[in-house]
Amino acid sequence: MEGTQTCFRCGKPTRVIGLGIGEHTRLYCNDDGSFESETIEDLVGYEPLFLSWVDDENDIPPALLRYIKQRYNVRTGFSKTAGERFANHCDHCGVIQGNWYLFEEDSPLTAFIPDGPELREKLSKLKIYSIGIDENLVLDWNFGMGDNDELYFKYCPAKELILPPSDDEYITYADMYKP
Ligand SMILES: [Zn+2]
Repeated sequence: MEGTQTCFRCGKPTRVIGLGIGEHTRLYCNDDGSFESETIEDLVGYEPLFLSWVDDENDIPPALLRYIKQRYNVRTGFSKTAGERFANHCDHCGVIQGNWYLFEEDSPLTAFIPDGPELREKLSKLKIYSIGIDENLVLDWNFGMGDNDELYFKYCPAKELILPPSDDEYITYADMYKP
């Protein structure tokens, strides 16, 4: 997902991105080491999208990491409050845009989780780039559930993204993880 955030340092609008997860199965680990699972599926009239992010860039499959690093100012950087983290940086002055500010529902500043009046208009300014994946990926990404999960696909413009090295809208597991 791509949005625009006003940089807290230079005050200019800068592009920021987040990750998103659609249909998926969550695994929960019990105290005794056993697992429980819950599957969130697209249903008719309901296509959820869960905003997500990672602190460690190694948790992003290599093909996707290469793509976002080439096109956006994302890298592992250092913030005084959070330490070393994979994060967005301002396109103009280069300062780190803290993950908490962008991805936590309690943050008053995040472009990704709009609320209040003009919600629909704010959502229409986000962009979704959708990547089809042939097989299941195993991901350890941070995300919660929010009020906008069922609204992103309704109101944000969405496009298919062709992720190299694939040349169509689906990428295989092998290509996703090719170093
Ligand atoms: Zn800036």
